[in-house]
Amino acid sequence: SKPSILVTGGAGYIGSHAVLALRDRGWPVAVIDNLSTGFRFAVPEGVPLYEGDIADGELLARIFADQGIGAIMHFAGSIVVPESVERPLDYYHNNTVKSRALIAAAVAAGIRHFIFSSTAATYGIPETSPVREGMPKAPINPYGWSKLMTEQMLADTAAAHDMNYCALRYFNVAGADPEARSGQSTAGATHLIKVAVEAALGKRNSVSIFGTDYDTPDGTGVRDYIHVSDLAAAHVLALEALMAEPERSMTMNCGYGRGFSVLEVLDAVDRVTNRPIERVMSPRRAGDPDALISDPSRIRETLPWKPQHADLDIIVRHALAWERRLSEIREDS
Ligand code: UDP
Repeated sequence: SKPSILVTGGAGYIGSHAVLALRDRGWPVAVIDNLSTGFRFAVPEGVPLYEGDIADGELLARIFADQGIGAIMHFAGSIVVPESVERPLDYYHNNTVKSRALIAAAVAAGIRHFIFSSTAATYGIPETSPVREGMPKAPINPYGWSKLMTEQMLADTAAAHDMNYCALRYFNVAGADPEARSGQSTAGATHLIKVAVEAALGKRNSVSIFGTDYDTPDGTGVRDYIHVSDLAAAHVLALEALMAEPERSMTMNCGYGRGFSVLEVLDAVDRVTNRPIERVMSPRRAGDPDALISDPSRIRETLPWKPQHADLDIIVRHALAWERRLSEIREDS
């Protein structure tokens, strides 16, 4: 029978979609999450949820044995860039030190495959866009460094021990499960599409446009938005690739390779709801690059990945459907 997959951070935004994608493809799953930013309701019925710390070696050893874990998908971590600038040691602790403990527990238990949630923030402000994996890594904040350091630990560990790994560097993750089984639930989220659908539903008054003088066609920032369910599917394919070739590790960008400006995103939201949201021209945010677009060549050559939702309007529609569902969940509880 198939081994079970341990998803850390499985009660969070991307992790919960990975749980759905794994289950949809027939993989048994267990979740470990300390519920600091995740939600119990994001973990489907029937999936064992261990409420605890990814650095708790005793708990991990018990989960590995009781659940028959054969691989780890590691999403748990802190992701707020400005917070990482204010509290760098918290980020190195949560993302780097605790990942080290998790990797050590995996090695000790003979877990052979490890998939890691990394980020385009490892590139910093790239010299050129689209960005290829081999380009210089020069994070401009502790968040990016905390993830890059974990990638390095995985590379060194895979070279020394019987483990292979896949690091997936996400571009701008957005949208929600097409069946509205999960979505972005964090209160006070700052990501553009989340903020825009909140505004569309009257949960906030307006959307600020952070910078209108960027070196882009319309002056606003350009990003490569990837649907969270396509991203989750890439994780399952990466897992299957690691199992098929246990000597091979890989690092891959996750994006579609095309960018949309802030104005194009807001236009899409207006189009989908058929009602304009109020826009407020605002100053640039510190550390935002003009454009950040992935070169997706490597993932397309490496995995049989066929994105199903590579369409801005679909991303927005699913984000909006989840935002409505979230209001119902909040009213019930
Ligand atoms: N952005 C914006 N208003 C917002 C949030 C974001 O204009 O309320 C812009 C931001 O400057 C960037 C793009 O939207 O150009 C995506 O930002 P987000 O915070 O979603 O992701 P990031 O690329 O910073 O990881």
